Amino acid sequence: MASGTIETAILSPTQENLDRLSDWIRQGGVAALPTETVYGLVADASNTGALRQVFEIKGRPLSNPLIVHVENGEKLLEWAELTGDLRRTVLTLVEKFSPGPLSYVLPKKFWVPELLTAGRPTLALRIPAHPLFREILRRSKCALAAPSANPFGYLSPTSARHVQESLGGKLRYVLDGGECPIGLESTILDLSRSPMRLLRPGKISLEEIQSVLPDKEILLPEEERALANEEIALAEKERAGHIPGEADEFASPGAPGGPRRHYSLRTPLHLFFKTEELLLAKEEKVARVFLSRKDREEVFRNDFFLSEEGDGAQMAQRLFGLLWELDTSRSYEKIYCQCPPSHGLGAAIANRLRRAAGRLKHGP
Ligand code: AMP
Ligand code: MG
Repeated sequence: MASGTIETAILSPTQENLDRLSDWIRQGGVAALPTETVYGLVADASNTGALRQVFEIKGRPLSNPLIVHVENGEKLLEWAELTGDLRRTVLTLVEKFSPGPLSYVLPKKFWVPELLTAGRPTLALRIPAHPLFREILRRSKCALAAPSANPFGYLSPTSARHVQESLGGKLRYVLDGGECPIGLESTILDLSRSPMRLLRPGKISLEEIQSVLPDKEILLPEEERALANEEIALAEKERAGHIPGEADEFASPGAPGGPRRHYSLRTPLHLFFKTEELLLAKEEKVARVFLSRKDREEVFRNDFFLSEEGDGAQMAQRLFGLLWELDTSRSYEKIYCQCPPSHGLGAAIANRLRRAAGRLKHGP
């Protein structure tokens, strides 16, 4: 997948390398760094030349805005225009969820570069928790723009090897911080509109945010809500005795690269909402991905499990890595994957699976 002319060095996190990377970024260079969510392609958020390189390396359209990463709440207030109730709400969320995997879409300060926001009046900001990323923030003294370090439209990388395989030859440095502990991109909450909107589900769930803001209404994007309802209706039909069949299996329409494919796998991905249904779907050259191995006595050669014990955090952490392995192995004609119900962390996993299966339009 990778092509380019630059020699890409994978750096271990020594003091010397952290200094080298901070200097490199401060001088306008681009590097891939681990965050607690996925690996990010990092540049000084105030340097438009460096930001242009990020879009170029990823092949990302300029119409797709970036998330800016800052060290703490104080720095966040330097970039966002916050007053009154909005300021209080943001500070409440920062106190509860930051540093961590929650991005805030907020009214921007007038001087914020247009490249970051794709010309919008709002800016996405996050305070990351990964110690190595925080070290680079501290040493470089820059706010850091960091989209996921993958070619636009493919799975987000959760290891340095993923970055090397997909972007090697296009950037100078990858900092190897091991596997990302969360493995899914951040939750994105748009507080610039009222009611606020959950633009992308993540490890910090809608339910958790709602519990901290009990008086605020939080909307889900329409399409996501419609799909979740469709899935609930299907589950109800099954409970009422309906025999599951082909028509209930959600397949990925269209060719790879089509408008509905975000994490465009080369291998077609089909989602299943009931374990029993997936258990019946046994085919040669088809990989079956189950959420959990619990209670499975008979296991087949092409069966894979996101978690042995049914641990949600582990399912999320392993999702992209396993899909990546299955897709790049070229050993399977199709991937069948069990999809969790859309609540809590399940909403984030289901969202990524729907995108990979082409059931959701491109979005955050
Ligand atoms: P990524 O950097 O790939 O994790 O994705 C960042 C996503 O955040 C983008 O795809 C956008 O859709 C979303 N985003 C960033 N900035 C804004 C903004 N100002 N308003 C709305 N969404 C945003
Ligand atoms: Mg991305």
